[in-house]
Amino acid sequence: MYDHRAIAKAMDLFHFEEHSPGMVFWHPMGLRVFRTIEECMRQVYQSHGFEEVRSPLALSRSLWEKSGHWGKFGNNMFVVGSWQQDNSVDGGEVESAEEEVVNLNYALKPMSCPAHIAIYKAHKRSYREIPMRLMEFGIVHRNEPSGTLSGCMRLRQFVQDDAHIFCREADLLNEIGNFLNMVKELYAAFGYEKFIIRIALRPEQRMGSDELWDRAEAVLINACQELGYAYELSHGEGSFYSPKIEVSLADRLGRYWQCGTIQVDFNFPQIFELSFVNQEGKLEQPVMLHQAVLGSIERWIGILLENQGALPLWLAPVQVAVATISEKSADEAEAMFKRLKRMGIRVELHADDATISKKIRELSERKVPLIAIVGEREAANRTVNLRRLGVSGQQEIAFAQLEEELSSLGKNLL
Ligand SMILES: [Zn+2]
Repeated sequence: MYDHRAIAKAMDLFHFEEHSPGMVFWHPMGLRVFRTIEECMRQVYQSHGFEEVRSPLALSRSLWEKSGHWGKFGNNMFVVGSWQQDNSVDGGEVESAEEEVVNLNYALKPMSCPAHIAIYKAHKRSYREIPMRLMEFGIVHRNEPSGTLSGCMRLRQFVQDDAHIFCREADLLNEIGNFLNMVKELYAAFGYEKFIIRIALRPEQRMGSDELWDRAEAVLINACQELGYAYELSHGEGSFYSPKIEVSLADRLGRYWQCGTIQVDFNFPQIFELSFVNQEGKLEQPVMLHQAVLGSIERWIGILLENQGALPLWLAPVQVAVATISEKSADEAEAMFKRLKRMGIRVELHADDATISKKIRELSERKVPLIAIVGEREAANRTVNLRRLGVSGQQEIAFAQLEEELSSLGKNLL
């Protein structure tokens, strides 16, 4: 087993500081990885009919009170305020800082649901727009106790693929099937073929009537049965507004990590009075699904690092390093570097006068998957001596062959 923090340090991906416990400082190499994952997810979400949106980080206390988060999730929220003069004191004249008060009228979102509801409600909706699928790379904050924070695995600030579907009850089976297909596609792209499903049922503290909970739980159970997915039931583990399917992937060491989730929610559409005009011209209430396929992207990266000890070629911040043996091959190495860069490969050129063994050692410590070594002979033959991370020895191949291998990267991914 690897420690993701040690690997992140070796690869210069990110660090943590006491100034922001549970929040990540992303370095350039780390953000490359983060963006590559985002782009991969963006493609999958788009191909499954989602539109990307972006919403504010801070939302008003009154909205969180309405959604129930303030009451049921309040201890986990970061409440934010502004210094404001309290004009009711001494006729509005402020004499000292003590007379200023903090108005704690906002909270940083722990999830994007109310914001996506606001986007839904910005217009009168028609059945033609239903199902409406919105997704956001939502920056969320959850005030986890400091003792539980653990690298990327448990954070106070993270980005999750935060998606909401507004649909009819008759669409639910299709939408849940869509979600499970996305899970399969995306997990496989990262090398995880196996996952298990748990259905988390009503908790003791919850909103809404038992009748709505009966319906929502039945939808999830029926969907798994109809779609042919095995599942376990976990009683009392649902969120306060809905039951959910939880997807846990199995890693190479046989550990399970809960990542994906989809929730059927009849409560928020009622509380927020959502509606659309149906084919008969009448107002109808949609059902809401909340979903995340990967969950926290930071945690996803942590799991990958712990599992594999490095990143796969398609995801590595530096995919190839072209390294010279001496100055005599510098021109040819630079030409190769430029060609790979033009192809969109994340490539570095190491043409300084350090010894090749030093270059190899440093690049291997940084977990660069491919090192293309170019000496005089290789330069003359348009070949490279290729070293693969984790594989001993090296292999001389035509540069054109390396180009071909790299050009097919990502094409088979999804
Ligand atoms: Zn939600």
